[in-house]
Amino acid sequence: MSEEVKAKLQIDINTLNACVQCGLCKTVCPTYQVEYDEAYSPRGRILLAKSVVEGKLELSPEVAKRWDECTLCRNCENICPNGVEYKELLVHVRDKVNKELKKDWIKYLGLKPLTFQGTKVFKWALKAGAVISKFVLGKKDTMPVVFPTGAVKYFPKPKADAQSLRGKIFLPPKEAKGTFIFFPGCMYENFYTQTAKNVVRILQKLGYKVIVPDGVSCCGGPHLYSGFPDMFEQLKDKNQKVFYQLAEKYDIKGLVVVCPTGGGTFKEDYELPFPVYELVEILEKELPSLRSGKKEKITVHYPCHYYTAMKLNTATFDRVITKDRDVEFVKGELNKSCCGFAGMFSVKNPELSQKILKRKMEDFENTGAQKILTSCPGCVLQLNEGTIRYANKLEVQHIADYVAERFLEKDEIEKLDALKEAI
Ligand code: SF4
Ligand code: SF4
Repeated sequence: MSEEVKAKLQIDINTLNACVQCGLCKTVCPTYQVEYDEAYSPRGRILLAKSVVEGKLELSPEVAKRWDECTLCRNCENICPNGVEYKELLVHVRDKVNKELKKDWIKYLGLKPLTFQGTKVFKWALKAGAVISKFVLGKKDTMPVVFPTGAVKYFPKPKADAQSLRGKIFLPPKEAKGTFIFFPGCMYENFYTQTAKNVVRILQKLGYKVIVPDGVSCCGGPHLYSGFPDMFEQLKDKNQKVFYQLAEKYDIKGLVVVCPTGGGTFKEDYELPFPVYELVEILEKELPSLRSGKKEKITVHYPCHYYTAMKLNTATFDRVITKDRDVEFVKGELNKSCCGFAGMFSVKNPELSQKILKRKMEDFENTGAQKILTSCPGCVLQLNEGTIRYANKLEVQHIADYVAERFLEKDEIEKLDALKEAI
């Protein structure tokens, strides 16, 4: 093995040898399941890394492309009987590619602005975006955005009330039984603001104080997964500082997320003074039976990082959904399979992303459901696109909005929103 090649990837050969090439991971890999080509499989991507480290293959743009075509859903890691640390491997090789072969400018330019999330400039840009999009799009809530890669993604409009929850403590109607921090995450507080508000209202009604911190940015997960560990570290330092300051001042029960990529990043890559919860974990334990909504046939999309990174049980989702006993809950073959969004993956690899999405939408249609429930904002965006492109009879709803519809009374929403104070 040449010293030059060793220096290029610097992966411990034992990490690569942990893969015994059994191929079990191919059964759950979304890219392999649509291409049926070894180069699109986890095993193939690991073998490429091994070949580069052993000096049998040059670290070339073609090799880097194969690694770029991975959604990093981590289903392979989840099923691997040999404990191959696939995320660590991919983050490492992507970092090396960025530093030593060619920086991925598309991902870099897409992710860099998120480091300004929460700053005054970012807030002003969102307000301007909300005014312009209202003028251009009128009442339509989604806008097609065309990327230089040829990808067309359907984004929600930036909202006039973006980031309006920040810097406040929301109070329960009666004596508080505990205090949570809610991390709204980039997409909720900028685009899906009603969902973020519903999360806060549900926790208030369940008897909790909810702190929405100011001064936090994106969790940094997308930066880490794209091979920009330096940007990740910068975001982690900034966010951790805010969390530790709050933990000194208040008795914090935990950090609540509704973004499993963020939740996984907080659990795996941060050092926090309190535990991290996905909202559904709290709902499963504390939510009473839900008032009946419409008699709907409902299916579910389990976000990959909910069970692969946060390592949570998918049955929790089912138990929350069926708290409305009048819904007919149905499942297909692919409820636990990547939707093909994966952040910048869908922008960089539009054709592959669409193949994965189409397969998924066909499976949802086969269930006969009218609605898909999920919890990740990226999945909401991608599945909504799936309803526009492939399955326009289906509707997508965030599980927090589904619960809010059946748990909150119309006349209490205003009262809950008014119960707040500054941090
Ligand atoms: S399941 Fe694990 S050991 Fe088997 S091929 Fe995939 S990564 Fe390698
Ligand atoms: S992380 Fe997902 S897309 Fe990537 S190789 Fe593993 S299963 Fe396939």
